[in-house]
Amino acid sequence: MAGSEFQLIQSYFSEPDQVERSDLILGIGDDCAIVSPKDQSHLAFSIDTLNSGIHFPHNTSADAIAYKSLAVNLSDLAAMGAEPAWFTLSLTLPGDDEWDDAFREQWLNLFSQSLFALAAQHNIQLIGGDTTHGSLSVTIQVCGYLEQGEGLKRSGAQVGDIIVVTGALGAAAVGLDIVLERNSVQYSELSDNDKQQAVQALNYPQPRIKEGLSLQAVAHSALDLSDGLLSDLGHILKASHVGAQLQVEQVPLASALSCLDKQQAWEKALAGGDDYELCFTLAKKDWSRIKLEFPHFVAIGQITAEKGLRLVAANGREYKINAKGYDHFG
Ligand code: ADP
Ligand code: MG
Repeated sequence: MAGSEFQLIQSYFSEPDQVERSDLILGIGDDCAIVSPKDQSHLAFSIDTLNSGIHFPHNTSADAIAYKSLAVNLSDLAAMGAEPAWFTLSLTLPGDDEWDDAFREQWLNLFSQSLFALAAQHNIQLIGGDTTHGSLSVTIQVCGYLEQGEGLKRSGAQVGDIIVVTGALGAAAVGLDIVLERNSVQYSELSDNDKQQAVQALNYPQPRIKEGLSLQAVAHSALDLSDGLLSDLGHILKASHVGAQLQVEQVPLASALSCLDKQQAWEKALAGGDDYELCFTLAKKDWSRIKLEFPHFVAIGQITAEKGLRLVAANGREYKINAKGYDHFG
């Protein structure tokens, strides 16, 4: 590795006050990291890459990029019901022709502070990585603990299960419209506070780790909502060989959707991405207990033996959707 890269890792990623886990044997600085997993435990792995201009707009702050890169990975652990333990970071940074030293320094300061702040919240430790030059891109791989036999799969949904989401949907999709200055007319009536919350939802998704751990013993299937409810729920239905009926009016709408008409609001909530709430299914008999523990969870439908996803209104009217997704429902 080049001297400057060594210095960069030393300066920004070998943080002395970072989380120090007792199950880490050897961290940043050698050819590999070494961990010592708890006896009898299983380990869950996930990896996600965020590319500038594709997964986040070019003008996104370093703070938000760091947060989101780790948060979306933590969200995968949450969706599995796993407990976060360690992560690695592969960072591709623009070269000297695009970023001067002062900018790089400022960027890395913001990036690493934000990264370590979120890591501390979830007791997950950075144990290694890679640093290269190219178009800005961040890859994080996380690893977490599961008890033997645990793991909330997509394939466990059973006929009669209630379908639940852990929070309101659609804010991040509005946030993306706002930062890309799309559909501004639609959002002209939105309060500054709602706009800010929508952009916050896009850049700082909250990984539902605590919820995932609590659901471990009770959910039959689960995933996190990254591509939009309709598309993601489709993964559960396919993997579980079942269908579902969704009560469209039950889907909890983010307050940023208040300025849209009902049809547009549902479209955003059902098809918009980047929510990072969990969607899970559980037996009817367990629902009231879970609702008591997590009052903000919302039941939005049931698993059916009949294949396919049907959207129904309270008056029983059925919304037709085609295989492509949200565009033509309603
Ligand atoms: P190698 O040449 O063996 O791939 P590197 O020069 O890539 O080693 O990295 C040296 C050490 O620094 C390794 O322990 C690696 O895990 C760590 N490292 C490199 N880049 C990062 C990064 N962005 N964040 C955390 N650790 C890093
Ligand atoms: Mg390397």
